[in-house]
Amino acid sequence: MAWVTGHQLRLFNSLGRRIEDFTPSADVVGLYSCGPTVYSYQHLGNMRPYVFADTLRRALRWHGIPVRHVVNITDVGHAVADSDTGEDKLEVAAARERRSVEEIADFYTQDWLAALAALNVQPADVYPRASAYVAAMIEFAKRLEDKGYTYRLPSGLYFDTAKSPGYGTLALMDIAGQREGERVEIVEGRKHKSDFALWRAEEPGVRRIMRWDSPWGWGAPGWHLECSVMSMSLLGDHFDVHTGGIDHRELHHVNEIAQSEAYLEDGRPWVRYWLHNEFILLDAQKIAKSAGHTLRLADLVESGYHPMAYRLFLLGGHYRSQLDFTTTAMDAVQATLRRLIAKIDPLRPLPPAETLAGALALLGAPAAGSAAAAVHDKAALGYIDAIDAAISNDLATPKLLATLQDALRDPDITADGLRVVVAAADALLGLRLGELKPAEVDQRRTADELAPGAREEIERLIAERTQARADKNWPRADEIRVELDALGVQVTDTPDGPAWQLR
Ligand SMILES: [Zn+2]
Repeated sequence: MAWVTGHQLRLFNSLGRRIEDFTPSADVVGLYSCGPTVYSYQHLGNMRPYVFADTLRRALRWHGIPVRHVVNITDVGHAVADSDTGEDKLEVAAARERRSVEEIADFYTQDWLAALAALNVQPADVYPRASAYVAAMIEFAKRLEDKGYTYRLPSGLYFDTAKSPGYGTLALMDIAGQREGERVEIVEGRKHKSDFALWRAEEPGVRRIMRWDSPWGWGAPGWHLECSVMSMSLLGDHFDVHTGGIDHRELHHVNEIAQSEAYLEDGRPWVRYWLHNEFILLDAQKIAKSAGHTLRLADLVESGYHPMAYRLFLLGGHYRSQLDFTTTAMDAVQATLRRLIAKIDPLRPLPPAETLAGALALLGAPAAGSAAAAVHDKAALGYIDAIDAAISNDLATPKLLATLQDALRDPDITADGLRVVVAAADALLGLRLGELKPAEVDQRRTADELAPGAREEIERLIAERTQARADKNWPRADEIRVELDALGVQVTDTPDGPAWQLR
């Protein structure tokens, strides 16, 4: 290739279920991600949406597209079992833990933010709390009522989904099927099962802790309302990208769209691109440590895994693929991370290469359309092009990781070229490859906690090394030592033969 011209960023839009060119509608892309309900710890699977949204932000930055990112914090309005009626999750937690709802919300918000930081997720521009937007939610619901989209019941104010022309498009919803669906609970007087609460009135004789006065009586807003109100308050009536877990595609986001487009009534789609990440499958049986509570990042760290190993685990799968979380998989990614850091450590410091243009400038590559100038490292340029192609192809992080590995093995790349390639890859991966110390990613677990098969593999390697030494095959013996080192195994030669332990 003469020079790299850059690939068009393409993303899978859940609205229409197809890969589309991403074209910003404004100078700054508005990005809204559904955040946590802060009544308990966020488990490992719950962290995937934020690493995914972070990858999207890094991809936009790579393409030189400025972003304003809003992630909400649900501290009111989310009833148990995602239903429209009944107790609020925060209030249930407050009663259980004998703390105030504010203390509960603060505690679990801080825990979640700490986990995001440990995963090297860039902070959002704003983290609005639902409880601060209740007045705006009431105004929003009033407007829907004025326009005739709602009806009142003793249990609150409901959105009439039959009045929403495109209701359920995002979920490819068969409206008749949804009306017979199982997920939604029975509410007396509700016209259609798909109708949802905009306002949840207090039940007679039950006084909520978090309660507001409204035209529909004392109560609390419905859960779906907050995301429409906060996103439009902070990003404008229309914005470009809305993200969340795949479960939101079927109900929460369907309802957000219905109420927002009813509110705006301007004939335009409310949000242009809807992106959803798949689930993590947590096999609780295989994770002894998690017995009794949901597994979270802090548990992994306590078991000797580095948070970046979990990030690498996530990026090793495409965001639209389900991932099976197992300790075997975690052992593998921790070993991979250790090998990556060991190879990259001697290359430091890495240059800043957060954008395609920046990476090309570092390589001395000419900009597209200008007269060709000398490019000193054609191999490095090829890898930058491959990285750009991977991230631009719907955030193909597994391909990006493979490209990085290829570059690290390539004998034809210069050290300076490799520095740029590693820096560019990590600007998108966010694995802190430029700063992690090899000692930080050592496994501090005991041999008893090894994954099935790992002990046998270590002992096979040690036996092979002993044989190589007996054969005076010193290069092979050294090779095996490096391999063991990468697995976090330290071998000591004693008069009784080799002994080993995990560092
Ligand atoms: Zn939401």
